[in-house]
Amino acid sequence: MRLPGLRRFARWRHARLALQLPLLLLALFVIVDGLTGRQLAPRNVATTSVWLHYRGLVVLALAFVGNAFCAACPLMLVRGPSRALKRLVGREWRWPRALRSKALVIVLMLAFFFAYEAFALWSSPWLTAYLVIGYFLAALAVDVLFPAGTFCKHVCPLGSFNFALSHTSPTRVAALDPDVCRRCEHKPCLHGRVSDHQERRAAIEQRGLPVEGARRAAFVPLSEVVAPNGRGHFPGCETDLFVPEMTSTMDCTLCLNCVRACPYDNVGLTVRPPWREPLQAAWRRRGYVGVAVLAVVLLWAGVMNAVAMIPPYFAAAEAVAAFLGTRQEWLVLGVLFTAVTLGGGALTLLSFALGSLAAGVREGPAALLQRWGSVAMILAVGFWTAHYLFHFLTGALTIVPVFQHFFEYRGFAVETNWRLAQLVPSRWLFFVGATVASAYGVLAMVIAGARALRDFGPARGVLAMWPVGLFALLVTVAQVLVLAQPMEMRGTLLGPLP
Ligand code: SF4
Ligand code: SF4
Repeated sequence: MRLPGLRRFARWRHARLALQLPLLLLALFVIVDGLTGRQLAPRNVATTSVWLHYRGLVVLALAFVGNAFCAACPLMLVRGPSRALKRLVGREWRWPRALRSKALVIVLMLAFFFAYEAFALWSSPWLTAYLVIGYFLAALAVDVLFPAGTFCKHVCPLGSFNFALSHTSPTRVAALDPDVCRRCEHKPCLHGRVSDHQERRAAIEQRGLPVEGARRAAFVPLSEVVAPNGRGHFPGCETDLFVPEMTSTMDCTLCLNCVRACPYDNVGLTVRPPWREPLQAAWRRRGYVGVAVLAVVLLWAGVMNAVAMIPPYFAAAEAVAAFLGTRQEWLVLGVLFTAVTLGGGALTLLSFALGSLAAGVREGPAALLQRWGSVAMILAVGFWTAHYLFHFLTGALTIVPVFQHFFEYRGFAVETNWRLAQLVPSRWLFFVGATVASAYGVLAMVIAGARALRDFGPARGVLAMWPVGLFALLVTVAQVLVLAQPMEMRGTLLGPLP
């Protein structure tokens, strides 16, 4: 926030909208080209921008900045129509307690990963367009019926993917001076802020129903606001994070509402080393076990997602099909998907259990996940980053010709240059992917060692670190071996550059 202009921009009332509009425009291009353009994946804006560029830029942003894509998410622009529909519906429901863990998100995420392979989403512009439309409709429906922030926190698989992978991101939102927070009476970063009664009434009216945000908003007269950033209603944190007590980026959409709502200009986007959060008991306020289960699921679904693109998978699929006597691809995929996810999950828990047992502690699955879950999360971050970077680097420059083609196809005098495709030569791809996966693998091993020493002390910790450290090493080696296989060049038209 000390970077020139950044604090001023973040406190500007329309900062988030300014970030969302470019992605909304991209979503419109995706829908139009997906539904009306050529149904050839490498030549369509829908398939290339979503499956090559968006995913690649998401992991790059998570690695070098933070959860920038939730910050710029255009889905939350449904807020305008949802307010009007809220008035029509006339009431708002509380999100069911039973769904407040990460269980629903995990189920939706697995369904998405399965559908991605089963329906070959990366190769279908029209399905990709309908996926985007479906996403907007789902966000609208949840936003109409439930309090703001429900979709991001409890439903959106993409959001939870970003929350999870930001475990090692180099930034996080934090209170700058704890003493200021201690003296702060109304906690506007959480509840929101208005400067007078009239603004409060207007905010409630604008929001449709008096049960959410605006009614809870604190009155803070403008004269008390440090570095005032305008009048009106400044909403607080929609995912119920209280900045001074935040220990994790889990559920933080980086919307920066808290920055704008804090009357004392006491919230910053601060820099941290990637090991800071894994070393703390960071998820304790965010449904700890559910988040750790999400980490394990992401790790093995990530492995499955990459394995489905390499030759050994096709051999395994043939063997399973012959064994089951079926040619139904979805069935074979389902069997392999379940085997890898459950088998990998069991292996993960076994190594965690051996780690604790080596220190003389017998623990149940929940306690094991709480203690060691970060190790799985770091391995997941490494592999998803390596995998998505692979696709991004093989087709990053195609964004130029597909947009040229979009206009050429519709009769504009534009010449498409299809020679633009890869960002780096093919021979670099393995090196880049293996370096990324290995770097995160080393971090996972270091965290395994550090947690063992911290939790069990030097004498027992030195024993406990080995099973989990070895698990991290073996998973990293397996990931590098997967990356070394020839992969399907999904979403690219040209063959690889030498
Ligand atoms: S971050 Fe700002 S609004 Fe939140 S408690 Fe601290 S001073 Fe108050
Ligand atoms: S308001 Fe909540 S979700 Fe938004 S940046 Fe602040 S802590 Fe994160």
